[in-house]
Formats: sequence, structure tokens, C-alpha cells
Amino acid sequence: MNLPPNFAIEIVYLIATALFVLSLMWLSAPPTARRGVLAGEIGMFLAIGGTLLERGIVDYHWIVIGLVLGAIIGVPLGMVRMTAVPQQTALSHAFGACCVMLVGTAEFYLRAPNISKFTMAVLAMEVILGALTFTGSLMAAGKLQEILPQRPITYKGQNFVNLGLLAVAIAVGVALVLHPEHRSLFPFILGIPLIFGVMMIVPISGADMPTVISLLNSYAGLSAAAMGFVLNSKLLIVAGALDGSSGFILSVIMSKAMNRSFSNVLFGAFGQVQTSVAGAIEARTVRSATAEEAAGILAAASKVVIIPGYGMAVAQAQHKVRELYDALTKKGVDVSFGIHPVAGRMPGHMNVLLAEADIPYDRLLEMEDINSELPQTDVALIIGANDVTNPAARTDTTSPIYGMPILDVDKARTVMVIKRGMSPGFAGIDNPLYYLDKTLMLFGDAKAFVGDIVREISGGTHH
Ligand code: NAP
Repeated sequence: MNLPPNFAIEIVYLIATALFVLSLMWLSAPPTARRGVLAGEIGMFLAIGGTLLERGIVDYHWIVIGLVLGAIIGVPLGMVRMTAVPQQTALSHAFGACCVMLVGTAEFYLRAPNISKFTMAVLAMEVILGALTFTGSLMAAGKLQEILPQRPITYKGQNFVNLGLLAVAIAVGVALVLHPEHRSLFPFILGIPLIFGVMMIVPISGADMPTVISLLNSYAGLSAAAMGFVLNSKLLIVAGALDGSSGFILSVIMSKAMNRSFSNVLFGAFGQVQTSVAGAIEARTVRSATAEEAAGILAAASKVVIIPGYGMAVAQAQHKVRELYDALTKKGVDVSFGIHPVAGRMPGHMNVLLAEADIPYDRLLEMEDINSELPQTDVALIIGANDVTNPAARTDTTSPIYGMPILDVDKARTVMVIKRGMSPGFAGIDNPLYYLDKTLMLFGDAKAFVGDIVREISGGTHH
């Protein structure tokens, strides 16, 4: 039997493709997520391995240099703290998109003007999406890492300028499809989207950043799929399409969680009004309590809902939270966790941390499910969360987070909030929850304070 020359490679690619699909499927549920990561890793290993076996490769020199450089950059990038994952993700998109853009450029100059209309169309799409994702992701990473100014920058006619730029780039792309011999036009479909990527991110900040990151993820995937058409690689088409659609679905989920429409995210300049709102707050009083008092109330409760947030991640308090869960459960208290879809700084942030501390998955309830239980809850214990519990989102039409679905903790009989002081959270706004009569502020670092409460509760059993 005569097999085609690249038969083995095609089989390797097919297995890699299947592994990517399985990986995404497994990643969507906590119990199988680890398997999903492994499947993705093996899939990527096979994809790279298969590519290295391609007969078209005449010299491995540059490839080896690329692999070594990639490893030198990639390994430390994989070891960042979990709170820095959003900017790390943005950087990975930037690298991927840069690669797509460079390959597209090389392919154009190798092939043009002998290039079919279809190939030129996907190549133009590849380069435009790759270039705008490259600079857009770099900007997003810079903003999230606080290297670039956080506040959105807006000016009159901004959307007009931005969309105008994109329209020009697309028009040049169309011209190249019709006349690929005009090679001098190519730099425009490279340069204009590079500028557009920067301009696109300039007006965006605040809580919209994560949505934009997953949207950029989607663009990076689409550009890779377009590259798959140019290079005639089924593996790239499938992997890019998976990446593109999952990124898009994630941005839809996140927009919904924050009650923001896409156009609002992209053109709304979220976060502008924050300073003026913060300035309007007059000095109001809060009630604070000690760990001993908190422990007494918690141990006497029959139903406690714990709401973790970004502060729990910063303090790395998840293991202490697990101890608290154990101590309360031992006392017969019913303890569950209310997980807001955008608590922390990345989707699934809280789930990952609580899973790391081996808190049973079935105790983690999503916002919709826990909200119906909160009115019957004795104590809502908030650990380092802020924005996701802010009732202003329900009532204050002038609030920048107005309309964002929140955890209705103010409906619980007693509210306790562990945080270090009165600083606002990510959205930079005050939280009226703290001034309610039923609210007790527990000031301190999340890890230390939860540890103190656990000690009080457990100590109590011996006396
Ligand atoms: P948050 O609103 O940012 O509030 C976190 C609170 O934690 C702060 O008010 C801070 O108050 C406290 N804190 C910080 N370090 C602490 C420590 N060591 N111990 C105790 N408390 C500590 O957090 P969130 O309620 O989780 O809301 C998430 C926000 O991030 C939302 O606005 C969301 O839109 C946005 N966001 C989400 C994602 C995502 O995908 N999940 C991504 C990016 C942005 P003190 O300084 O007073 O302690």
C-alpha cells in the first residue's frame, strides 16, 4: 500500500485536533479541568512535533533558536502569580498575534502577485486581525500591569476615528484582493491595524478590561484560523476556530455578568466617572468587630454563605478559608460559597483557588443559585470581595456599575466583611453595604483574620 508522503504527520495532526476539542470540553467543568489541561498540552506537543517533521523544512537552525528563545520567555511567563494571569494571557495573545502577522507578511511577499482571490482575502484578514490583536493585547497587558495609565482616555469623535481607521484598512485589503500586484499597498494593512489596536484600547479600562482580553483572544484565534487557510493547515483552522469561538463565548458570558453590551464595552469608556463618585462620599460610620465576636456569631448561625473575592486571592487565604469551612461544618453549620462570575481578576479565579484548597465543588454555588438562598442566610461572610457585592449596582442609576448583577448579600440577616480598610475595589467606588446596620466590618488581612476566627471557633470547643 502506498501512503501519501505526509500520512504520518496528518495522523499526528488529527490526534492533536481531537485532543484540542477534548481539552476544551474537559476544561469546562472543575472535576475534569486538570485532564483538560493535560490534553491541551499533549495536543500542542503533537502539533509542534508534527510540524517539525514536515518535509518542507530544509534547515533546523532558526527553528532551534526559536524554540530556545520561546522556552526562555515562556517558562517564566508560566510562573507568574495567579493575580497576574490576565496580563500574562494578554501577552500570550500578543505573541501569537505577532507570529500570525509575520507569517502573513512573509507569505504575501513570497506569493504576490500570484495569489488567488480567496487566499488574498484570508491573508488580508489574517494580517489585519493579527496586527490589531498584537498592539491591542500589548496595550491591555500594559494597562493591567499598571505600566500604562489606568484611566480611559477619550476625546470627541473617537469612535469615528477608530472605525474610520479600520474601514480604511479593510478597504486596502479589498483593493489587494482585486489587485494583488500592487505590493506597495501591503504595508497599509499592516500599519493601520497596528495603530488601530492601540487606539482601540485607549478608551477602555475598569471592569471592561477582562472582557476585552477575551475578545482579543477571540481575534487571535480567528487570525490563526485565517492563517490556516493561507497555509492550508487543517489543524490551524480547527485550533484557531476553537480559540476564536471560545474567546467569543467567554466575552459574552462576562459581558452578561457585568450587564454590559458589547458595543458598550468597546465604545463606552467605562470607569470615567469613578473619581467624581468617590469624591462625593461624606464621612459615614461603620461598625467593626473582632475575630472573637465574629467567631461567636458564625458558630451560632445555622446557615453561612462565604463570598470570596480578589482580596482572598491577594492574601492567599484559601487554605485558611478551608479550615474555617471545616470548623463551621463540624459545628453543624451549613456552609456554602457564593461565586460571582467576575469575582477576582479572571474568570474562574475563585473556583481555582477554592479547588486548590480542596473545598468540595458542590459547595460552590453560582450567583443565580446563591441569590435565592441569601434571604434565608444567617451570615453572609465576605472575604476580600467588594464590587461584586455592591448594592449600588441595583439601586444607584449614577453608579458606574449600575445594572451589573451582584450577589445580594445585603438580604442576609447579618453581613460580615473582611478587608484591610475602607479602600474601594477594582471599579474604584464606595460600597454602601458597609454602612448598613446589619453589617460588621472585620478589618484585617484576609488570611490572618480568617485564621484568627478559626482559632476562636476551634478554641471554643475546648472550653
Ligand atoms: P474588588 O472589588 O476588586 O475588591 C477587592 C477588595 O479586597 C478590595 O476592596 C480590598 O480592600 C480587599 N483586599 C485586598 N487585599 C486584601 C487582603 N490582603 N486581605 C483582605 N482584603 C483585601 O474584588 P471583587 O469583589 O472580587 O470584584 C472583582 C472586580 O474586578 C470587579 O469589579 C470585576 O469586574 C473586576 N475584574 C474581574 C475580572 C474577572 O474576570 N474576574 C477581571 C478583571 C477585573 P482593602 O484594600 O480595604 O483591603
